Amino acid sequence: GLLLLFFVLLLLTWRQSRMRRNHLEQMQHIIDTDRYTGLYNRSWFKYEASKYLKEHEAQGRFAIVEIGISRRDILVETYGQDVIVELLRRMEATLQKTEWAKLPAVHTSTGRVFFLLRMDAFDSRTQLTTALAHLMHLNEYISIGHLVVHIAFHIGICPLTPGLSVADAMNHANLALHEANPICFYNAEMQQKAEFQSRIESLQQGALSRKEFDVWYQPKYDLATRKCIGAEALVRWRSRELGFLMPGQFIPRFESNGFITQLDFYMLTHVMETMKERRTTGLPIVPVSVNQSRLHMQEKNYLAYMQRLKTYYGAENIELELTETAFDFGTPKMRQHALHVMHELHEMGFRLSIDDFGSGYSDLTILNAIPLDVMKIDRSLLIASRGAKRMQAVLARMIDLGHALGMTVICEGIEEHEQEEMLRSYGCDHGQGYLYGKPMPEAEFSSFLEQHI
Ligand code: C2E
Ligand code: MG
Ligand code: MG
Repeated sequence: GLLLLFFVLLLLTWRQSRMRRNHLEQMQHIIDTDRYTGLYNRSWFKYEASKYLKEHEAQGRFAIVEIGISRRDILVETYGQDVIVELLRRMEATLQKTEWAKLPAVHTSTGRVFFLLRMDAFDSRTQLTTALAHLMHLNEYISIGHLVVHIAFHIGICPLTPGLSVADAMNHANLALHEANPICFYNAEMQQKAEFQSRIESLQQGALSRKEFDVWYQPKYDLATRKCIGAEALVRWRSRELGFLMPGQFIPRFESNGFITQLDFYMLTHVMETMKERRTTGLPIVPVSVNQSRLHMQEKNYLAYMQRLKTYYGAENIELELTETAFDFGTPKMRQHALHVMHELHEMGFRLSIDDFGSGYSDLTILNAIPLDVMKIDRSLLIASRGAKRMQAVLARMIDLGHALGMTVICEGIEEHEQEEMLRSYGCDHGQGYLYGKPMPEAEFSSFLEQHI
């Protein structure tokens, strides 16, 4: 009887431990896999890659690669998450077939693929990038229903130099990915840049409340009368911690973290307030244009806020500059909403200007869809026109196009008399550039105005 009891107890213990093991295995499986694709995930990769490199003493021969699907958010919004799932599965299967990719893993929520790349499978970096380009080429089209959609990728690579941990190399590959067009190797500058950018982000809110952002003004001229007829408000940051900063150093970060909408409101409010003050004290006023980020177009409270500003200060003499990229809407729904916002702003009495026109991809149908008042031709066109007859013809026709649509045409970046002369001969209305004046602090612009109006 005792023996029987002993066996039953043994059996029970064995069963229990088997169940626990199964349970643990299930848990581990959940931890290791991406829940949408069922493939291995990022944290599995991090662990397995470290283990693999140690076991094979292979640190120096490998690199970490991260592949991203470009415009993932737009793809998801337009076609749903399944497109990403399908793409990641395909990429993973393609990688499994190569000789040079080890341990591929995915992350559906960000649309990323990770793997270890055997550097010694290639004679040169060129050969390596060719192989990666081929990989992207194999997956660049996907069928969704009766549609065939083109997919673009970007790739960040970080070689595993001695002493570098897999976790750090993954962070580095991610930094490289953000600069990739479409393939980029990590370098130390990226780390410095990333640290500076995080610094900026940690200081932004405090800087706004301490009023460290200044409004500078750059004059705009009438090309026919050579008088100052307006100005553009441009931000400068006098940072207590970082010194004097130009927009190029912080605006891109504010665009990506959304803080730009607060900064834009600050700038616009300041400009409208100053204008009201000058009006009541009888000082000369010229119309001022203020840059507005594309993010406002999708922001919930934007119109309500603009309405309040308008009611309080009046919208006369205020022009809103929207860069060409503000019209790159992403999805049809976003396009429709942005068009609605622009119509409403125009109804309120704000003048609308398309900034940097001609600098990039322009959907010309927006010229019909939006009540734009001002065409602001990008400086790059002026530069390209130097001694180039065909480009001059383009510039002249652009000015005609603006006029045919009832817009005022202004050209940016005029630095020389010859440029001014050429633009005037094409009938361009206004000009802005160092020839007339660089951006200057408010007090300086105030005296400038007294002399040049
Ligand atoms: P933008 O709106 O196209 O402004 C014109 C830029 O060209 C300004 O650079 C100006 O200083 C520069 N510029 C003007 N004339 C000349 C010239 O003759 N030669 C050359 N080489 N450059 C000239 P800045 O002030 O550095 O601003 C850069 C960009 O930052 C602006 O380009 C605008 O897109 C953005 N930005 C500036 N302030 C704000 C703001 O308050 N809000 C938003 N959302 N963006 C802003
Ligand atoms: Mg502008
Ligand atoms: Mg511009």
